[in-house]
Amino acid sequence: MTLWIAGARGRDTALGIEGGRIVAESPQPPPGSEVLEASGLFLVPAFIDAHVHLQLVPGAPRALLRSGVAAVLDLGAPESALPFAEAAPLRVRFAGPLLTAPGGYPTQGWGKDGYGLEVASEKEATLAVERLFRSGSRFLKLAFAPRNPTLAPPVARAAADQAHRRGMLVAAHALDRDSVQRALAAGADVFAHAPLEPIPLPGKWVISTLRAFGGTVRGLGARVVYGTDLGNQGTEPAIDARELALLEREGVDFLRAATLDAAELLGAPDLGRLSIGSAASLLAVRGLDPESLAHPVWVMNCGTLLR
Ligand SMILES: [Zn+2]
Repeated sequence: MTLWIAGARGRDTALGIEGGRIVAESPQPPPGSEVLEASGLFLVPAFIDAHVHLQLVPGAPRALLRSGVAAVLDLGAPESALPFAEAAPLRVRFAGPLLTAPGGYPTQGWGKDGYGLEVASEKEATLAVERLFRSGSRFLKLAFAPRNPTLAPPVARAAADQAHRRGMLVAAHALDRDSVQRALAAGADVFAHAPLEPIPLPGKWVISTLRAFGGTVRGLGARVVYGTDLGNQGTEPAIDARELALLEREGVDFLRAATLDAAELLGAPDLGRLSIGSAASLLAVRGLDPESLAHPVWVMNCGTLLR
C-alpha cells in the first residue's frame, strides 16, 4: 500500500512512499489512496550531521532521529563502539579513534578512553588503518594539533596512503595554519572543522562546526558540509539552528550543506534528496530558515513517522 504525501508548498507533485522509499511522484494521489497532508508545509530531506561523537552522548541515535537527522559521520569513537550497530535505524559512517602520535591529541584530554589511537611508525600506522577498515571504518581521522606531539610526516602519509588504497576518505583534525599544511601534506581529503583563518582548500571537504570551534568557511574554495561536533560542550543531539545560521552568515547554502552535499560526502546517494528511489526520510517544516528547519512539524525516517 502506497502512502502519499500531498499538498506541500513549493512542490507540484505528491510523493508516493512504500517500503521506506519514495517510489512514485504524481500531480495528485490516485483516488482512494492513503494521504498524509502537508498543506502549508515545505518538505525537505532529513538532515545529515557530518561531525558527531555518538559515544559521548547517551541516547544520541534516537534523539537525532526524532529531531530530523537521518545519518551521521562519527569522527571519533573508541574501537569498542564500532560498528555502531545499535544506533540503527540511524545511519552511521565512522572513523573510529583518531590516529595520533604517542601522547598526542586527544589522548591526554577528552579522548583518553580510546578516542585516540597512538602510532609511532609507518608500519604501526598501516596496520592500524587496516584494522579500522576491517571494523567497518570508511573514513580515517588524523590528529594534527599544536602544543602536542604530532604524527611525523612519513607516518601520517603512510596512514593516509593505506586508507586511500582501501577507498577510505582521510579526515583531519587541523585548525591552525601549520596543522592544515601538515594535513594537506599527508593527503587529507576532509577537514573535520573549519580552519581558523581562510586557507585555500580547493577540492577538499570542510565540515563546518562553526559554533563549537569558530573559524571560517569563506574563501576556502572547498565544499562545505554541516557538522556540529555533537558531544562537544553545549551541543545537543538535534538539528542545530545556530550552526545553520552561522553557515548562512558565511554565505553557504546551509540546507544543501546539510542534505545533498553531506550525502555525497557520506557516500549515501539515497539520502539528501527527495526523488524516486530515495529513502523516505524527510521533514515537514513551516519555513526554510534555520529556526524552522530545526523545529520540524513532523519527521519521517524510512517511511516511519517519528513525530
Ligand atoms: Zn569532534
